[in-house]
Amino acid sequence: VLLIEFKNVVKDYGNEVLGADRLSVRIDQGEFVYIVGPSGAGKTTFIKLMYHEVGATSGEIRVNDYDVSSITNKEVPFLRRELGVVFQDFKLLPRLTIFENIAYALQVIEKKPEEVEKRVNEVLKQVGLKDKAQNFPNEISGGEQQRVAIARAMANRPGILIADEPTGNLDPDTSEEIMEILEKINQDGTTIVMATHNSNMVNEHKHRVLEISAGKIIRDQEGGGYENE
Ligand code: ADP
Ligand code: ADP
Repeated sequence: VLLIEFKNVVKDYGNEVLGADRLSVRIDQGEFVYIVGPSGAGKTTFIKLMYHEVGATSGEIRVNDYDVSSITNKEVPFLRRELGVVFQDFKLLPRLTIFENIAYALQVIEKKPEEVEKRVNEVLKQVGLKDKAQNFPNEISGGEQQRVAIARAMANRPGILIADEPTGNLDPDTSEEIMEILEKINQDGTTIVMATHNSNMVNEHKHRVLEISAGKIIRDQEGGGYENE
């Protein structure tokens, strides 16, 4: 089932280099896709176009049933319920506990309190952090903070999990733990799109690789490595 489709997408920031240059790609439900390429290649732009953090200059973007390229402001929050997003720097709210950080994501979409509590406990269990629920972000390790961010992204059961350099601030062992959690989430049926510079992870956990350079896809390889052999 086709889930994400880019057709001739251009993003012009007004710089010399396009953020996306006639980018076309199709991603099916259940896939795990890495986005690789040098700094400034357009990885983050590709990701931000998907959840309409930036708008395309031209071209078509479809995500699930949404025509993202012509989406209205009113529809954007609904699109974003179908996409969980995880960042390099975790982006947890420092004054809220781990439990509250995750609950907040559900409260804003008006889930009932009983439902919120049940779901927060489920996702905390999924990432192995039930015993840290009452801690604050600065009381736990970087790897644990990223697990909380993943739990928060998954709280609403999105069909797609987007991760922009999720292991960028983590040591190799912790990165491996995060990858194992992402693999499990993918095996449970969630589509994953992950931008990364982490060549070890790409080479050890083989998946489809999209390599971007100057806003263009220059390689699309099933089970590929970080670099073309
Ligand atoms: P990557 O994630 O691969 O490092 P980006 O998508 O962040 O690449 O950037 C792609 C290109 O678009 C770069 O040339 C970058 O400078 C430019 N760019 C990204 N975001 C903006 C922005 N908000 N304003 C202007 N230029 C931007
Ligand atoms: P990453 O390497 O993770 O893609 P960057 O450090 O390139 O992140 O970009 C951080 C932020 O700055 C992003 O929101 C991006 O859109 C913005 N940005 C990147 N390049 C430019 C640019 N040339 N002009 C303005 N904003 C930019």
